[in-house]
Amino acid sequence: MDRSASHDYIDFHSHHPSLNGERVIQDGIHTRGRHPWHLEENLPSAEGVGEHLLAIGESGLDKLCSTPYDLQLRVFREEVVLSEQLRLPLLLHCVRAIDDVLLIRRQLRARQPIIWHGYRGHAQQLLQLLPHGFYFSFGLHHSPQALVACPLDRLLLETDDDILHPISDLYAQAAQLRAIALSELILQMHTNFQTLFTTFF
Ligand SMILES: [Zn+2]
Repeated sequence: MDRSASHDYIDFHSHHPSLNGERVIQDGIHTRGRHPWHLEENLPSAEGVGEHLLAIGESGLDKLCSTPYDLQLRVFREEVVLSEQLRLPLLLHCVRAIDDVLLIRRQLRARQPIIWHGYRGHAQQLLQLLPHGFYFSFGLHHSPQALVACPLDRLLLETDDDILHPISDLYAQAAQLRAIALSELILQMHTNFQTLFTTFF
């Protein structure tokens, strides 16, 4: 598998369809949630959206956005409850609010995996969150130290809204940082996909 075909790659979070035949978990199709930036638009919750749904999100808390924080807290609680009811992982958008995310998960006794997408934090924080069921999805802008510190079975890769850099570039970069073969990384991402999502698309 060293000559990797584009369909070998999984892009774990994207706002666009597959560019080169990669397997893409696309926002709005495979994941649906109420993003803290857009709560005024009153998006419906993801309840009952069908068999393609792999995760609830992006949902979360963002202390730097203009949405009233108490509204963010209320909606995020509902999204965590939905993720638990549907037994789907939660795709997290989190800006300077991790303490509240942990508190809400503890209060609601959340058990579903939580994927911190677009993780840009430090390695130390990442290590502290591992016992709380976190997975970390790294995009173009990440801390290389954090990507190296992340256990391979909690590591995901994503393009998010970047259509200029194919996910294969990020795989190559991550494999180099981790000093592992690209084929090993690809296999690991498939394993992580199966662990996280019981349905297929
Ligand atoms: Zn996104």
